[in-house]
Amino acid sequence: MSARPAAERRADLLELYHRLDRDWVCPLKESRTSVVFGSGNADADLMFVGEAPGANEDREGKPFVGRAGQLLDTLLLEIGLERSDAFIANVLKCRPPGNRDPQPHEIEECTPHLMRQVELIEPKVICTLGNFALKLLSGSPQGITRVHGTPQAREIGGRSLVLYPLFHPSAALRATAVLELLRADVARLPELLAQPGSDAAPAEAAAPAEAPAGGEATDGPPGSPGGAQLDFFG
Ligand code: URA
Repeated sequence: MSARPAAERRADLLELYHRLDRDWVCPLKESRTSVVFGSGNADADLMFVGEAPGANEDREGKPFVGRAGQLLDTLLLEIGLERSDAFIANVLKCRPPGNRDPQPHEIEECTPHLMRQVELIEPKVICTLGNFALKLLSGSPQGITRVHGTPQAREIGGRSLVLYPLFHPSAALRATAVLELLRADVARLPELLAQPGSDAAPAEAAAPAEAPAGGEATDGPPGSPGGAQLDFFG
């Protein structure tokens, strides 16, 4: 249980977005169009953290709006969830030029804002999508091919929660074998979300399937439909 009401945390999240959008001199400021802050339910039990916005996300100002995002939506639907049940963010909030990998100094610059988002949203489960989010939030060099589908107990943003490493949907779009592993891992999310409160240590999951080698609503008035949602860009 949170000590802070959801409406207060949501207001702080909105304030953080406005501050970053207005004042943030990030290393990628010159090449980006938008700060892609993240979107979804500001009081979600479930958070996804991807790598960085791509061209579509930079244009629209929202995370995962391209093909990878469509796949994520499909996989969520398969387990009876919608994007609006979760909050979706990225390690980087600005698109690296040409979609290159995030650089260490860019990750360092962005990390406090991601941590603050976690602190305010108070998720029970954070799904990392791909290696950048996994390595940042697990604090371990172990890669996604080894640890996907295995829940980890972690302290993040001042909270005890479950970190759940998933393959990045973009990797799943490139390889059917990865897609099937991702689908199987996502299928176990309802079980993780049903576990008691965020301070409970997660049970270690059974070993995941072998990986192949290589490897909204509106920001409207409280009480409006989707009043718990953040859609800063609508
Ligand atoms: N890939 C990511 O990691 N994040 C996005 O927002 C889109 C694609």
